[in-house]
Amino acid sequence: MTVSPSIASAAKSGRVLIIGATGFIGKFVAEASLDSGLPTYVLVRPGPSRPPNSDTIKSFKDRGAIILHGVMSDRPLMEKLLREHEIDIVISAVGGATILDQITLIEAIAAVGTVKRFLPSEFGHDVDRADPVEPGLTMYLEKRKVRRAIEKTGVPYTYICCNSIASWPYYDNKHPSEVVPPLDQFQIYGDGTVKAYFVDGPDIGKFTMKTVDDIRAINKNVHFRPSSNLSDINGLASLWEKKIGRTLPRVTVTEHDLLTMAAENRIPESIVASFTHDIFIKGCQTNFPIEGPNDIDVGTLYPEESFRTLDECFNDFLVKVGGKLETDKIATKNTAAVGVEPRAITATCA
Ligand code: NDP
Repeated sequence: MTVSPSIASAAKSGRVLIIGATGFIGKFVAEASLDSGLPTYVLVRPGPSRPPNSDTIKSFKDRGAIILHGVMSDRPLMEKLLREHEIDIVISAVGGATILDQITLIEAIAAVGTVKRFLPSEFGHDVDRADPVEPGLTMYLEKRKVRRAIEKTGVPYTYICCNSIASWPYYDNKHPSEVVPPLDQFQIYGDGTVKAYFVDGPDIGKFTMKTVDDIRAINKNVHFRPSSNLSDINGLASLWEKKIGRTLPRVTVTEHDLLTMAAENRIPESIVASFTHDIFIKGCQTNFPIEGPNDIDVGTLYPEESFRTLDECFNDFLVKVGGKLETDKIATKNTAAVGVEPRAITATCA
């Protein structure tokens, strides 16, 4: 175990342990925890550390994070770490394959008895309400099992229901914001009119960290529904066309297509296809009001804080494709120079 003594003796309260900080969502949470100034501990799985993980861990360390080594399914170790470092808040952002390992972590948290808040790996939909087809359903059944285990222990919890990450929602990519929106054609799910919420990754981290010591978020589902980030997929396509300054063909991916992809049971692609069906065909993000006794909108909690808008998030993608658009322009110019008419791009079906 590597512990920096100067940092370990820092502030005694609000100590945060993040599990899964090298992952896609965990990175946003760890960055936000470090931004918040709370003493931040990161649990890293043992074994040879390869880039990009080693770079991520180094950047956390450089910013003052305390790196601990171990796996959350090792109960004696987790109890020891929680006690030794007087951890107040545990946030898990582990991926789909290890959701049930959190049960052992919950047992360790309950045995130690001093953790003031636990945030399990949720970071998506309200899993008690959403009802995707398989294989997404299996992941939700596991997340529900984790919820029931937490509730049984009496450990205070917060469930983060942040909806979709701001990006083009590819039906087969579990980390879609790592990829730019399409430059050849749009695949539109169904009629493209079912709305969803798209939240910037750093905002997922920022608002998650605001809830961790907020008593109003104890034992609540915290829903992220910023109105500036509500869009259907037709709207996302138009926004992207405006940014890149041209129109792209649109092809329809039907409900049947999505269900077929889900039924292929390729992991993780089919899980993403089942969620895509739930979001863009069934409307699982918007088909219920936030009015249960355990529900709260993050916007109600922090009205003074703004979310980055979808428009701003898509500007980031435009910067990423800048070079590619320039190359396309030169290619079009050269084609025109040798007397060949560039092919007009028109919308097909939608
Ligand atoms: P990743 O697979 O990217 O990362 C998982 C992280 O957990 C890694 O850091 C991994 O470590 C660590 N980890 C896994 N098992 C253990 C263990 N036993 N002990 C310690 N560390 C462990 O996960 P994602 O970011 O994709 O998923 C996290 C959550 O976010 C999930 O609940 C998922 O459903 C949700 N999600 C939400 C999205 C959205 O758009 N709203 C998009 C994607 C995910 P290592 O580096 O060693 O592998």
